[in-house]
Amino acid sequence: MSDNLKKVFVIGGGAAGMMAAISASKHGCHTSLFERNDVLGRKVLLTGKGKCNITNACAKEDFFVRFARNGHFLRDALKAFSSEDIIAFFKEQGIECQVGRQQRVFPLKHEAPDVVEALRKVLRERGVHIHYNARIKDIIVTDNKASGILFEDGTKELCDKIILATGGASFAGTGSSGDGIEMAEKLSHRKVDLRPSLVPLITKEKFPQKLRGFFLKNVRLTFKHGKKKKVTPIGEVMFMLQGISGALSLEMSGEVVDWLAKGEKVLVKIDLKPGMTPEEVEARVVRELKADPKRKVEDALASFFPSIFIETFFKLVTIDGSRRSETMKLKEIRRVQESLKALTLEVTGSRPLNSGMVTQGGVSLKDVDPRTMQSKVVRDLYFTGEMMDIDADTGGFNLQAAFSTGYLAGLSAAEE
Ligand SMILES: Cc1cc2nc3c(=O)[nH]c(=O)nc-3n(C[C@H](O)[C@H](O)[C@H](O)COP(=O)(O)OP(=O)(O)OC[C@H]3O[C@@H](n4cnc5c(N)ncnc54)[C@H](O)[C@@H]3O)c2cc1C
Repeated sequence: MSDNLKKVFVIGGGAAGMMAAISASKHGCHTSLFERNDVLGRKVLLTGKGKCNITNACAKEDFFVRFARNGHFLRDALKAFSSEDIIAFFKEQGIECQVGRQQRVFPLKHEAPDVVEALRKVLRERGVHIHYNARIKDIIVTDNKASGILFEDGTKELCDKIILATGGASFAGTGSSGDGIEMAEKLSHRKVDLRPSLVPLITKEKFPQKLRGFFLKNVRLTFKHGKKKKVTPIGEVMFMLQGISGALSLEMSGEVVDWLAKGEKVLVKIDLKPGMTPEEVEARVVRELKADPKRKVEDALASFFPSIFIETFFKLVTIDGSRRSETMKLKEIRRVQESLKALTLEVTGSRPLNSGMVTQGGVSLKDVDPRTMQSKVVRDLYFTGEMMDIDADTGGFNLQAAFSTGYLAGLSAAEE
């Protein structure tokens, strides 16, 4: 290795850091990767329930919309390294991908450990020096230029460029506990407050506890906050010990956390029959009750919900489900209809930051150049991945953001 090669240090061996190191070495730098764990990609191993939803194959413009805020910040990063590029990258490593539901891209025959192993193999082939059990404490800055790193034991190492890829601050057991965000803050970068996203919501009502682990499928949620409301597509919601989760709720959770932080009252209404109008639901309830007037109400209406939910539902509408159908009064039928169309819960909070699948907030994008990922505050310092104020829905968007920003940071560090 020639001595006049640029010396690039990448801090954090997650999705963004591995890709940044691959990119810097590919573009001619002498690259070292520092990871605090004894393995790479611990969070990547958890992705897509171990199947690793690598990216999303939707159109570019739809891609940006799936980010809570700031999606357009990623324009240059995606140009440098797109979802097609990451699919091609893994194909070269023998991992074929397939596009599934909602354009989510998963490995066809492989799983998350194979994805991490493929990245590790490329790092090795490219001659990247990987340092395990190396928790970096600080960035050394000389004349407003990043010039080295400080280890926990007080030792230092100097370099030409530093790429920070330490991730967000949730699921801290994976190693991502917000170190890089703190280092950036110490170097006068602005920080956007950290909040959880893709996180279970806590409700005032206690009945979810009894139904924990149970999914209501083909429902629609309407979130009301103040005078505004937001309606989800049709999907599923899951009951949890303290409230709700599942795809629909998770995807709204980042916004809900923000509404709650502003002190707004948040209600969620579950529409169990999104394909029918309230009138149609009521007509069907009446039809079912009349079909056999001697039948128990809960038997007559059993086709409306999964059996595990029946007892809870009748408790919520305060109707004795064991009564005969013919005893149901019009106002009770209306109550059933209203709860089928809008079973209402009050959201009082969310599980803590550590329980969020992603972290909202982080290094403010005002201090990062989107064309290069270089800091606007300290020269030769680059940011990547979830440690920046970028977060998206589920569907492969977060990993793609990590891969794209990592790739661009590695390229920029090599070229600038
Ligand atoms: C349960 C779960 C499932 C998910 N599923 C998906 C999915 O299917 N698709 C998707 O797109 N996204 C998914 N995500 C989100 C996605 O995993 C993250 O957005 C992505 O991993 C962020 O990449 P990153 O490289 O920025 O950070 P990370 O992957 O968090 O990597 C940061 C790395 O830096 C290391 N580090 C931290 N501090 C230091 C330090 N001081 N010194 C040295 N090393 C340090 C950490 O140990 C870690 O290895 C999921 C997240 C979770 C929690």
